[in-house]
Amino acid sequence: MPKKTATKKKATRKTKSGTAKKRPRAPATKPPARFRGMDVTTRAVAMFDTLTREYPDAHCMLDFTNAFELLIATILAAQCTDVMVNRVTPDLFRRYPRAPAFLKATDEKIQEMIFKTGFYRQKTKSIKKCCRALVDEHDGEVPSAMEDLVALAGVGRKTANCVRGNVFNLPGIVVDTHVKRLAYRMGFTVETNPDKIERDLNAIVPEKEWTHVSHLLADHGRAVCDARRPLCETCPVEHLCPKYLD
Ligand code: SF4
Repeated sequence: MPKKTATKKKATRKTKSGTAKKRPRAPATKPPARFRGMDVTTRAVAMFDTLTREYPDAHCMLDFTNAFELLIATILAAQCTDVMVNRVTPDLFRRYPRAPAFLKATDEKIQEMIFKTGFYRQKTKSIKKCCRALVDEHDGEVPSAMEDLVALAGVGRKTANCVRGNVFNLPGIVVDTHVKRLAYRMGFTVETNPDKIERDLNAIVPEKEWTHVSHLLADHGRAVCDARRPLCETCPVEHLCPKYLD
């Protein structure tokens, strides 16, 4: 009789509606022995101190001169590099400096101007809807309250935290692709949902540092902890990092 072979259970679970849902990732290994006994907050503080020395100029990479420009630039940055957004926005904001100007523009003209950022039709719709709400509900100004920001078209917590942190000085973790990747590799979260990653980071980073830490992680993600080829051998926080590479 042929031997039965063990089959691995799939890493999925059923939701109430019966659809399969991916389990959150869990670290593949236990923390290295050198971290046992070191609490995660102590490790995070040491790591962010080192990164602050490495990236003393860490700041938002999108160019802007006011809240409205940063809001629109952040909407354009979805699925696009900050470098490309910065190439597009000078002409865009010269022509449409405020929400009413965008509302007067044709969709075709906006699409043409933001074409290089990708998803230009959807982004044009979001910008127009967002500007309509700014004019109708906020006198054309960008609100600072989280609930008001996330109610705007094209704006989630990532964009809201970016605007609040960089313009209104209200700290927030901006969970972009770099922060998401590094928070996992560094052992600060096992979650994949950006809101849950934000919650996990909020619990270990002092509130006044939330915006700054987002910039540090983004800079380190670009310079060293690359998505495909992390340079662990030369990484300045290697001695503090469990390196949960996915
Ligand atoms: S040690 Fe490796 S995984 Fe950890 S932060 Fe540095 S580059 Fe990224």
